[in-house]
Amino acid sequence: TPGEWPTQDLVSHRVAATPDRTAVVDVDSGECLTYRALDTAVAERTAALDRLCDRGGPTVAVLLDTRVAFAEVVFAVQRLGGRLVPLNARLTPDELAAQVDRLDLDVLVCGSDTEATAVEVTDAPVATVDESEREAGLELRAPADAAPDPVSLDRESDALVMFTSGTTGQPKGVRLTIGNLLASATASAFRLGVDPTDRWLCCLPMYHMGGLAPVIRSVLYGTTVVVQSDFDAARTPRVVDEYTVTGVSLVPTMLQRLLDAGWTAPDQLRFVLLGGAPASAELVDRCAIAGVPVYPTYGMTETASQIATATPEQAFSHEGTVGQPLLGTDVTVVDEAGSPLPTGERGELVVDGPTVTPGYLDSTTTDDAFGEFGLHTGDVGYRDDDGRLWVLNRVDDRIISGGENVDPGEVADTLTSHPDVAAAAVVGLDDPEWGERVGALVVPAADESLDVDAVVAYCRGRLAGFKCPRTTAVAEELPRTASGTVDREAVRDRLR
Ligand code: ATP
Ligand code: MG
Repeated sequence: TPGEWPTQDLVSHRVAATPDRTAVVDVDSGECLTYRALDTAVAERTAALDRLCDRGGPTVAVLLDTRVAFAEVVFAVQRLGGRLVPLNARLTPDELAAQVDRLDLDVLVCGSDTEATAVEVTDAPVATVDESEREAGLELRAPADAAPDPVSLDRESDALVMFTSGTTGQPKGVRLTIGNLLASATASAFRLGVDPTDRWLCCLPMYHMGGLAPVIRSVLYGTTVVVQSDFDAARTPRVVDEYTVTGVSLVPTMLQRLLDAGWTAPDQLRFVLLGGAPASAELVDRCAIAGVPVYPTYGMTETASQIATATPEQAFSHEGTVGQPLLGTDVTVVDEAGSPLPTGERGELVVDGPTVTPGYLDSTTTDDAFGEFGLHTGDVGYRDDDGRLWVLNRVDDRIISGGENVDPGEVADTLTSHPDVAAAAVVGLDDPEWGERVGALVVPAADESLDVDAVVAYCRGRLAGFKCPRTTAVAEELPRTASGTVDREAVRDRLR
């Protein structure tokens, strides 16, 4: 119900209640801001942005790494009732220009390190959060008292355009409203709990939902977000200890690296929110042994992050599940014709609820994605008798070999059940005879030299012949996208 929610930006709302609590700590720069200090910094950014924009509700793109200034700009744009567009700092100038061209940008905010790129990709004014090195550079800071009053926010209008990871094609621009972000923050709190002493470590890029969500949520909850620009398997555990971190968001590869480095979770750590890609049963197993309070999560940009999250108890007793959908989120499993399937049957996951995007930047993409029961995720999974959700693979990943449907997840699970195999990715490869054939890239278990033929023979004993890999290759690790999902195109390249 709209009336119960803050109608101003979240920092304005929060500073009135708990000005002296710590809002954000940056482990790289050593900055530490109370809510009062954050409010002032946001006011300075707001004043500067307001000078640069000719209209209310401006569209502001951000090309920055994960740091405090990013968070300041997030809330400054919110204070102006504008639309924030986080850009992926890893993309090339051409890729960035293609995204920027689709937006009517008022300002592009960058750092001293990204300024040269920023100027290259847009004709809109470029302003930097650092001292500018350009002669005509605009520094994004002005006296706080010059800031306009916070605008009243419309819960239904776009507050954020977030690009997807581009696993299945070009990244899609997802529109998200303040209503989506608040619904996501509250539903997540119902699953993870909130403690006033929480310190949530954000070491994921803030230009992905998994990195931005802890920033927005911590301010809403009045807790602290600890910001580390780059995850590092050696340094991140020290940050967790030194800053008494109580929660952290990670993608599976990061957690894997922490465990490989011998990490055991300290007592104060309440949750490890694990998302972005499937968490293997083996990884969950290792969490149980290392005492890691893991919350395996299924989510997507289109739902402002989490759709379903398993508690550690569920994760350990039902390895592989992502648990029940969050409060308010409906998941329907449908067949190829879009009709609902009974419990236990595999089909496409369709999601509905207050966290779901009103649509993409491109209306054709929107029309294609929404059906009778909500947003078609493009992911395949099922619900069990207790309502737990299991996510298997993407619809596009389904392999059709000689007219038979092959579930790549099933083949990958069989491969990884072999003791010498640590991980595997299974894809369809074009085949003149079968249409597609099954290809597998396998990662040997530590220090094992792998006999691939023996592994394939092992599969033959457990899977129908058409499901067994016909083309294989060995790799040290699986190629992944920036957000940790397996990069299937790169897997295909390795098998060609
Ligand atoms: P694009 O939409 O551009 O192809 P993307 O879907 O990878 O890219 P994101 O929104 O970052 O972009 O990722 C969401 C996707 O990640 C989900 O749709 C799903 O395929 C995958 N994913 C996330 N969590 C899980 C999980 N626990 N298990 C399996 N897959 C997951
Ligand atoms: Mg997607």
